[in-house]
Amino acid sequence: MNDTRSLLGIALGGVLFVALLLAERTALAYTAFLAAFLLFCLTTRLSLNWQILLGGTLGVVFGLFPESQVASVQVVGKLFIAMLKMLIAPMILLAIAHAIGQMTAARDLGRLGARTVLLYMVTMAFAVATGLVLVNLFQPGANSELRETQFFQEAASAEAPALAHDLSLQEFLLQTVYQVLANPFDSLAQGRILPIVVFAVLLGVALLQIGPSARNVVDLLGAGYKAVMRIIAWFIRLAPVGIFALIGHLVATVPFENLVKYLGEFVFVVILGILIHAFLTLPLVARVLTGVGPGELFRGIREALVVAFSTSSSAATLPVTTRCIEENLDVPPRVSSFVLPLGATVNMDGTALYEAVAALFVAALYGIDLGIGAQLVIFFVAMVTAIGAPGIPSAGMVTMVVVLESVGLPVEAIGILITIDRFLDTFRTMANVEGDAVVSLCIARRWS
Ligand code: ASP
Repeated sequence: MNDTRSLLGIALGGVLFVALLLAERTALAYTAFLAAFLLFCLTTRLSLNWQILLGGTLGVVFGLFPESQVASVQVVGKLFIAMLKMLIAPMILLAIAHAIGQMTAARDLGRLGARTVLLYMVTMAFAVATGLVLVNLFQPGANSELRETQFFQEAASAEAPALAHDLSLQEFLLQTVYQVLANPFDSLAQGRILPIVVFAVLLGVALLQIGPSARNVVDLLGAGYKAVMRIIAWFIRLAPVGIFALIGHLVATVPFENLVKYLGEFVFVVILGILIHAFLTLPLVARVLTGVGPGELFRGIREALVVAFSTSSSAATLPVTTRCIEENLDVPPRVSSFVLPLGATVNMDGTALYEAVAALFVAALYGIDLGIGAQLVIFFVAMVTAIGAPGIPSAGMVTMVVVLESVGLPVEAIGILITIDRFLDTFRTMANVEGDAVVSLCIARRWS
């Protein structure tokens, strides 16, 4: 039995850990502990969610332990972030170019394709705007004294040469246009997202227009995309250890009670934003454009929402979403077959809202008050990264790195967000799936 072996492994690791601690070889003791925990995660049958919870809890215990070897776990946390960063640029390029390039049905449907993309953009913009309004209203993390702590000082000096400052509108436009026009290879190398997205969209549309003779390239992009997904899945298997290290370092260097308080405010704002978007904005869009009321809408897609909530993956929910809108809301398959798969990759209302709120929250924790220019950048970047994020669990966590970097915030701060990422992922995925369903409904009832 795998579990017997993994329990035996962890018991042996525990004994080794205590023995090394007693021998005052603390750094070695924590290395042995991390190795044992990693082995346990790779062999146990416990689900990944439970492993992550376990990693987080052990991280908290570690951080509260006065003898904590902060430096030895900090390295592991940094490695985990480096792994995430490694995949962002190829993931975004391949996901978008392939998602658009393979929409042959949309090409046949002509204007419907353009309308779908436009509606996706508009609903995402509503979501981000809701998030930004709420953050400015509730100001989670404002006046935090945490910036004085070791964690924040280290992160700020290590990662961000120039912390975000307020941009004027002119600077913002110049920066955006300048970024968009960058050489795509250079952007891929530098991991700059906006030009990658723009290039990916252009590439996808061009391949779509070329048609059958470009089929091979589209298939190649699709295979590349699947490969990157596979690598992410491997990395996410290591998440429990990464999360242990990041949370351990965080708790050891930041007063725990304060952190919990600020995280509470953040979680409140994200969930409130998602609920407003899911229960007010999206039903209103559906009502205005199709006449379908909230009761009918939610009865129709209830099952998809439950599956989204429990799997944290729009892609995994896709078959259920398709069945729900076809059978319960009479969306014809010729519409659902192109609107939904595109939406599962491109349309992420909940993720976009989360990324915007999280960026402002992190800025507030660092004591940076982001003005209108920087908030516009966040508005943009949150949408763009949500578009590039695939519909798999924790994708938003991976792309969060980009959002933080884009406004000059230290990516180390991901350690704070990771603590509640899995929890919030359930809510944002639900909003993502609802957004896909509402747009399909609008396209089917109003324009097809
Ligand atoms: N899990 C989300 C989805 O599949 C993406 C995210 O991490 O926000 O839609």
